[in-house]
Amino acid sequence: MSTQYERLAAMNTSHLWHPFTQMKDYNNAAPLIIERGEGILLYDVQGKAYYDGFSSVWLNVHGHNVPELNQAIVDQLGRVAHSTLLGMANIPAIELAEKLVEIAPQGLAKVFYSDSGATGVEIALKMAFQYWHNQGAKKKTTFITMNQAYHGDTIGAVSVGAIPLYHDVFRPMLFPSHTIPYPYAYRHEGGALAAKEATLTALRNLLEARADEIAALIVEPIVQGASGIIVMPQGCLSEMAALCREHDVLLIADEVATGFGRTGAMFACDLEDVSPDLMVIGKGLTGGYLPVAATLATNAVYEAFYADYHEQKTFFHGHSYTGNPLGCAVALASLKLFDERNILEGVKRKASYVENKLAALKERPHVGDIRQQGLMFGIELVRDKATREPYDWAERIGVRTSLRARELGMLTRPLGNVIVFIPPLVSTEAELEAMIHILRDSIIHVTEGRDS
Ligand SMILES: *Cc1c(COP(=O)(O)O)cnc(C)c1O
Repeated sequence: MSTQYERLAAMNTSHLWHPFTQMKDYNNAAPLIIERGEGILLYDVQGKAYYDGFSSVWLNVHGHNVPELNQAIVDQLGRVAHSTLLGMANIPAIELAEKLVEIAPQGLAKVFYSDSGATGVEIALKMAFQYWHNQGAKKKTTFITMNQAYHGDTIGAVSVGAIPLYHDVFRPMLFPSHTIPYPYAYRHEGGALAAKEATLTALRNLLEARADEIAALIVEPIVQGASGIIVMPQGCLSEMAALCREHDVLLIADEVATGFGRTGAMFACDLEDVSPDLMVIGKGLTGGYLPVAATLATNAVYEAFYADYHEQKTFFHGHSYTGNPLGCAVALASLKLFDERNILEGVKRKASYVENKLAALKERPHVGDIRQQGLMFGIELVRDKATREPYDWAERIGVRTSLRARELGMLTRPLGNVIVFIPPLVSTEAELEAMIHILRDSIIHVTEGRDS
């Protein structure tokens, strides 16, 4: 007789195709199958507990199975699960929009909902494009993105993506974009200042030459996530914003990963007092519970679409589940917990706690760089610390380290040779310490071939 686990594992192999996963590798190992969560722990069907060391891919804020969030969904479910936002409204979508405008960077005044970060990015791109079109600036049709950018996996988002491994195969399907360097201090000769100057110079040159053809710049503010948790040198974002303003090019801030306290501020833009024209939020918006995203716009953007019907300036875009009441209700409950539990203050305190605890790891022979902003950490492993020579990708050093961490009781998912540590914002110091132990032991086990 087969166990429940064996039955599920067999069905998983037979029927499921997993995202960002080479299924031939995946099917070679026993699958992890999650059954429930409690606090920052996830439990598999065999009862083993794991720390959620990457917030279930950077989403989770308050932990799993949180009574207040569960209750918000149950309460809304007793009223209505879904009604459309096409030409009508619902209570949680209205209340959440008001709250989002209240906490967003200055100037953002309107909320357009969707259901994933990628769709939120599509909306921002289309809004920026049509914003110029509606005003007769029909040449302003292209976008600027940054080297190694990631904005989601739909075709528009991939068109402003710049990670060759993910994006190159689709190049013939995509619209062309301009790419400027991202300031990657660890791998820039001359370090942070030179990296920042190179970025700003490239942006300035591009804008001076072609601003009349460019609709918007899209940027992951302060932390470029999927490229390896790469933190911008101070002042870079605000100077990029100023250049865009000077040259009449819109700024789209993709806060899908950085929003909702992750970086120590509510939004990463707040760290440098930047007010984008469009801002995309997702991931942590619902506390990591349900798929809701949003694109926030300034009144100036909104007004370019606000016209008599026959002028055909309407934004013809929407999704079946736009403004889903269950998702909006849990997002509201999550934001209430931000206030009641003083989450942002907690992140600042915990960020320096983790920073101190990780400091010793910098001395290890294969730890090249430890990058941090708030509770987002990337640990870049290198073959040779002196020359910063990377491990060959075929060694899968990141994958092996993450697998070791799983054996030791913590879940995370690497970005190439970068180990990701993005714990839920509510993690206690004791929980953070336990997770850091696992991180350290996994890195030493895999890179030094011994147990500490
Ligand atoms: C995850 C992510 C996205 C895509 O969000 P999905 O909800 O996965 O579509 C877009 N931009 C950034 C910066 C992200 O980290």
